[in-house]
Amino acid sequence: SPLILWFRRDLRLGDHPALTEACAAGRPVIPVFIHDQVVAGQGAAPRFRLGLSVAALRDSLKGKSSGLTLRKGDALEVLRALVKETGATAVWWSRLYDPDAKARDTAVKAALKGDGIDARSFAGHLLFEPWDVETKTGGFYKVYTPMWKAVRDTDIRATLPVPGKIPAPDTWPASDNLDDWRMGADMRRGHDVVLSHCTMGEAAATSRLGAFIAHRVADYATARDLPGVDGTSGLSENLTYGEISPHACWHAGQRALHDGKGEAEVFLKELVWREFAYHLVHHTPRIVSGNWKEDWDAFPWNTDARRKEVQAWQQGRTGIRFVDAAMRELQVTGRMHNRGRMIVASYLTKHLMTDWKIGLDWFAEQLIDWDPASNAMGWQWAAGSGPDAAPYFRVFNPVTQLEKFDKGGAYGKAWLAEEYAKPSGTALQFYDAIPLQWNMSPDDAYPDPIVSAEDGRKAALDAYEKRGF
Ligand code: FAD
Repeated sequence: SPLILWFRRDLRLGDHPALTEACAAGRPVIPVFIHDQVVAGQGAAPRFRLGLSVAALRDSLKGKSSGLTLRKGDALEVLRALVKETGATAVWWSRLYDPDAKARDTAVKAALKGDGIDARSFAGHLLFEPWDVETKTGGFYKVYTPMWKAVRDTDIRATLPVPGKIPAPDTWPASDNLDDWRMGADMRRGHDVVLSHCTMGEAAATSRLGAFIAHRVADYATARDLPGVDGTSGLSENLTYGEISPHACWHAGQRALHDGKGEAEVFLKELVWREFAYHLVHHTPRIVSGNWKEDWDAFPWNTDARRKEVQAWQQGRTGIRFVDAAMRELQVTGRMHNRGRMIVASYLTKHLMTDWKIGLDWFAEQLIDWDPASNAMGWQWAAGSGPDAAPYFRVFNPVTQLEKFDKGGAYGKAWLAEEYAKPSGTALQFYDAIPLQWNMSPDDAYPDPIVSAEDGRKAALDAYEKRGF
């Protein structure tokens, strides 16, 4: 009898433990993707980018004489209907760890098992299952460095090849048409601008990793901090949809290290930050929605998301060049350099005293590499409310940060049109990507700071001291 393979954030054929085992079982495999309640609940940009990834997977399955059945609706109802239609007796998938996916998967597994179906979940999204990594006293890690030290020398299983053959069923179930789902429908104006900056699908992700290891990893430790330099792997948009596995990235990093590219260790460390984020989300799911340190609930954040200061932040017109450049990078590419993310998050939560959840939600709507765990950890780190967080009194100065990390001015030039007689192409693309109601033009005068670096820092520290810390 056939086996249903339910794809979610594992949209690849290589290094896919569930797929490998399904193919080895010698039964017909029916790959399925469901536009379910979890997908529907995602932000516009992640859903748009997910659609691109599903299309790429569909094409690679076609290339293997297989196919991807697309269905829309409640996950359990869809799977039950498919089981009935196809006579499948097994439904397998790769495990996820964020609270929404976990709640869905737990319910689906229990119900299908109750129906007598072999409902099974596999590893694949992470290097380490969150429950397999423990502190010496048997707890979970709340600080990154000890976790890194504990896992750095672990033997990580080798990557699995793309299956030679994916056994097909005699008849395929009917499938929706991906275009009818209109997964980019809620995307901001000019989503073709964002599309031009996307690198999607398993083959492209694999080449991207190869190019990074060949040309950039040797300078990674320094270049990764420079937002105006293409010094990082760019793999977050691929890792988040599982177009590439963390194992493939890990082993490529290890090989570079053994080839004498010592800076590759920093890349391995970053991969473990992703693991750490999932470790935290698994053990303390509240991290995605509330202050991880619960005493922060008393902090006087401003929770009004419609304030004009928040709008200026979203639209890249705070008058603080680093913040505006990064927020515009987000509109054009759907991504943002890590230093930019730290700076804009610090400015929103400290200088503008805004609840980090407002920033978290904006990123969840706008990022094509949105990841439920890394986004939550990043915001709580910046705000000071998270585990292993930047202490609240450490307020980034966005002016000196830009002077330090953008010495040649490449980042400012890439994203701020108003300040240049001949703006760069990417700075001008911003105006094609944003909603018309923002009413912005490259001919505008660049705004004065809505809150200066010094005033914001003082206000944040005053509020912090008043709490008696
Ligand atoms: P590289 O420097 O090439 O790193 C390789 C990989 O390591 C990344 O692809 C990513 O998977 C992982 N990684 C690197 N840095 C981090 C980190 N700080 N935390 C967790 N994993 C990391 N990352 C996301 O993937 N999705 C998000 O939604 C997200 N939101 C963030 C929000 C804030 C406020 C902050 C401060 C950081 C956030 N990050 C997020 C982490 C980080 O900024 C991105 O992973 C990184 O910029 C991606 O670029 P890259 O793939 O070129 O990274």
